[in-house]
Amino acid sequence: MLLSIKNVSKKYNNGTEALKNVSFDVEKGEFISIIGSSGSGKSTLLRSINKMTDISEGSILFENQNIEKLKKKEINLVRREIGMIFQNYNLVERLTVIENVLHGRLGYKSVIAGILGIYSEEEKKEAFAFLEKVNMAKYAYQKCSELSGGQKQRVGIARAIMQKPKLLLCDEPIASLDPKTAENIMDYLRKIVSELKITCIVNLHQVDIAKKYSDRIIALNKGEKVFDDKTENLTNDV
Ligand code: ADP
Ligand code: ADP
Repeated sequence: MLLSIKNVSKKYNNGTEALKNVSFDVEKGEFISIIGSSGSGKSTLLRSINKMTDISEGSILFENQNIEKLKKKEINLVRREIGMIFQNYNLVERLTVIENVLHGRLGYKSVIAGILGIYSEEEKKEAFAFLEKVNMAKYAYQKCSELSGGQKQRVGIARAIMQKPKLLLCDEPIASLDPKTAENIMDYLRKIVSELKITCIVNLHQVDIAKKYSDRIIALNKGEKVFDDKTENLTNDV
């Protein structure tokens, strides 16, 4: 088992109960969508998994380690295994596409590495190979600020997989995109994670997209898990 969420609750300082006793396990290789309307707790759940936010109760086990009990250094090691894709892309806009992808591997160090031009040939080759996968290699030396939303998210995917994560968390990756571009991004995402055997959890508010792309769906409603099953078993009343 890759990830185990056990009786997780999260209460923000202002009293909002964002997650209420949520439990589920994730096996290696699964592609799961988390659905639920705005405010149902999807983002809080993903942010809890990589410890961008702390939970109030319960435990989260990543590769059988309780991440609540880890020291700061150990948390950073876990984070390296967990890639993120965001609704707002989170690219460094003033940098080029290739620099952003290399950034996925090296984190903050890559800014200095980039300035000094000290990426290894191997890293560059790899970054280009991942850009090829999302059909963005031809934009490698363009600044991210010049790209469309769909193009930015393709770079977001390349950056995330450059990290070679075991788990990829996608927080509303298509919420800022038009329907056609959204499907295009989901096509790339699904294809690449299958090919690289990366376990993937995607927050979505579009049920139709979740049904089309995921093997399993978890639905949240006001912080509670109200559905968790194979996609084909999702009924209309969830
Ligand atoms: P979703 O991703 O499904 O839209 P969120 O996890 O963002 O849901 O939010 C769940 C609930 O927690 C909402 O009521 C939201 O207003 C609240 N919430 C989210 N982030 C914070 C925060 N930093 N402080 C207080 N409340 C928050
Ligand atoms: P910088 O190089 O500026 O320190 P980071 O490499 O830390 O930037 O990442 C940029 C942004 O992406 C930050 O907002 C950070 O929170 C987020 N981020 C990057 N990797 C992860 C990750 N594995 N988990 C959560 N957030 C991440």
